[in-house]
Amino acid sequence: MTSGGHPARAEIVVDLEAIAHNVATLRDVVAPAGLMAVVKADGYGHGMVEVARVARAAGAEWLGVATPEEALALRASGDEGRLLCWLAAPGDAYGDVLAADVDVAAYTPAQLDEIAAAAAAGVPARVHLKIDTGLSRGGATPGQWADLCAHARELEESGAVRVVAVWSHLVASDEPEHPANSEQAKVFDWAVAVAEEAGLHLEVRHLANSAAAIMRPDLRHELVRCGIALYGLDPAPGVTPDIGLVPAMTVRGRLALVKEVPAGAGVSYGHAWVAPAPTTLGLVPVGYAEGIPRAASPGAEVWVAGARRPVRGKVCMDQLVVDLGGDLPEPGSAFVLFGPGRDGEPTVQDWAEAVGTINYEIVTRIGGRMPRRYVGEERP
Ligand SMILES: *Cc1c(COP(=O)(O)O)cnc(C)c1O
Repeated sequence: MTSGGHPARAEIVVDLEAIAHNVATLRDVVAPAGLMAVVKADGYGHGMVEVARVARAAGAEWLGVATPEEALALRASGDEGRLLCWLAAPGDAYGDVLAADVDVAAYTPAQLDEIAAAAAAGVPARVHLKIDTGLSRGGATPGQWADLCAHARELEESGAVRVVAVWSHLVASDEPEHPANSEQAKVFDWAVAVAEEAGLHLEVRHLANSAAAIMRPDLRHELVRCGIALYGLDPAPGVTPDIGLVPAMTVRGRLALVKEVPAGAGVSYGHAWVAPAPTTLGLVPVGYAEGIPRAASPGAEVWVAGARRPVRGKVCMDQLVVDLGGDLPEPGSAFVLFGPGRDGEPTVQDWAEAVGTINYEIVTRIGGRMPRRYVGEERP
C-alpha cells in the first residue's frame, strides 16, 4: 500500500501465486488423499480470506479453521465449500455455524448434545469426532471413546447429527521416525474400528498436518490438514525433503533514518549494544507492536543496500536499529526484514532461528500497523 505516491514505510507483501503453487504442489504430493487448507489465525498472518480464496481456486477440497468466528468470516466472504472448525467452547453459538453449513468437531458427549440441540430440524449437523491419540490436548481419551461413539450413534438415529469423520492430531510429526507417530496411528486405527463397530459410517479420516502429509504417506488416509506448508514454510527444517514450496510472505519497507555514530555510542534502551568502532546505523520503523520479537536482538539480520545487517540493541515498540557498518544508503532506502531468500535477504526461518522459535510463530505474530499487500497472479 502506498500513501502520497511513496512506497510504504513498512508493509507485509503476500505472494498469492506462491500460495497457489504450494497448494497445487501439496495436492500432487498427497494424492489420492484430499487437502484441507488450514487458514486459521488469519491465514498464519497472511490473510485468511485471501488465502482461502486462492487455496480453493488451486483445488483445496476443504478449509480448516479453529474458531466458529473464523468459519463465519469465511462464509461471509462468500466461501461455500467444505469447511471444518474444530475449537468451539461450551456455550458457543453452534446454531450460527451449522446454519452456515460448517462441519464441526466434537470431543465429548455434552458437546454432541449442544450440537444436536442447535441443529435445524431435518438438517443433521456434520460432526468430526476427535480421538486424543496422545497429544493430551483436544479430543476424547481412548477410555471415553466407546461412549462418545455410542452417544453419537443415538443422536444420528434422532436425525440431529451425522458423523462424517474421525480425526486426531500428532505429537511429533516434525520427527517422522519418532515412535509417537506410529503409536498414535495405532490408537487412531483402533478408534476408527470402534466407531465403525458402533455403526458410524465415516466419509473421511484425518490425522496428518503438513509434516506428516509430506513425510508419512501411511498417515494420510483420505484427507490431510496442511497449514504451514501452504505458506511455503518448512514444517520440519532440515528434515523435510525439498518439494519446491515457495515462501509467500515478505516484510519490507523504507529506512526512516541513516546516521553516523562514533565508537562508544550505545544503541537503544539500556545500551545493550555499544559500537566498538565508528559505524553507521539505519532506523527500521517497525517494532514489537508489529510482531517483531524483542528476542530478535542479538542475532537477527535485515537486508539493506545489498547486504544482511545485524539488528543492534533492544527492539523497541515502533522501531529497531541495524548496523550498516559504515555504508550510508539514503534515508528512505529499502529494507527487507525477511522474504523468500532468493536475493540473499533473510528468510522467516532465519528469523525463527535467531529468535529461538519456529517459523509458524514469526509469521503468525506479524502485523500491528503494517498494511498487507497482495501480489502475484493466481493460477487459473
Ligand atoms: C494448526 C493445525 C493444523 C495445521 O498444522 P501445520 O503443521 O501448520 O500443517 C492441523 N491440524 C490441527 C488440529 C491444527 O490445530
